Amino acid sequence: MIAEVITIGDELITGNTVDSNSAFIASKLTERGYLVKRITTVGDDVEEIKEVILEALSRKPEVIIISGGLGPTHDDVTMLAVSKALNRELKLCNECLERIKEFYRNLYEKGLIDDPEINEARRKMAYLPEGATPLRNTEGAAPGAYIEYEGIKIFVLPGMPREMKAMLENEVLPRLTNKKFVQKKYLAEITDESKLAPILSEAIEKFNVRIHSSPKGFGKYIGIIIFAENEDLIGEVVEFMKARGINFKEGW
Ligand code: ATP
Repeated sequence: MIAEVITIGDELITGNTVDSNSAFIASKLTERGYLVKRITTVGDDVEEIKEVILEALSRKPEVIIISGGLGPTHDDVTMLAVSKALNRELKLCNECLERIKEFYRNLYEKGLIDDPEINEARRKMAYLPEGATPLRNTEGAAPGAYIEYEGIKIFVLPGMPREMKAMLENEVLPRLTNKKFVQKKYLAEITDESKLAPILSEAIEKFNVRIHSSPKGFGKYIGIIIFAENEDLIGEVVEFMKARGINFKEGW
């Protein structure tokens, strides 16, 4: 199961904000057994975003998760870019508009804003690509969108990490396959990754697992992460590698 993540925002490509959303989304997808093949970051430019989406679609992953650029300002153009990429009109979602009105009314009643009325900028957030299912934003104003396009599940989420995380948990993960993956981290007592490489290759060939390795502990250890469908399988891989003379410590 292949997935891609696209994060959007000028603040990301200028280095003003560190793109933590893609790491969070990728870790959740990996836990679910998806292989995240690409993470792409693009600025707030309609044509660039459209191009990145078209490129991702052409690779036909099962899932594409997009985050950022759903807010009320002029540079929040993600929904427009999605609608252009999919060749679907942007349509007013009445249910979304009602929720947005309620959101601002609440902020007004709490004394957090001076104007509860819906204006053009706030109304803009209620437009979704035709055929999209709105995704509820429990932490902010802008709704997300879920679109099935030629068998590909596309999710469009806000950029604010708090909003994105809530929507991912409540609206996205329940729509994905529930094949939980387990991951475990080990330190292998070996100083040279190249000596470990053939053993890892052998393990990957023999078992249905994914293994990542990276040097740790000032040349004393190699860190290993094993991803598998269950802990027993990870145990088998560890035993296999021990039998090849590698000493392991659990955790990093
Ligand atoms: P909102 O989330 O406010 O409804 P939005 O979808 O337009 O609207 P952005 O304007 O793209 O969100 O981002 C809001 C804030 O969230 C940004 O100022 C930035 O600090 C943060 N943010 C956006 N994208 C990311 C990201 N990929 N990783 C970490 N933080 C991010």
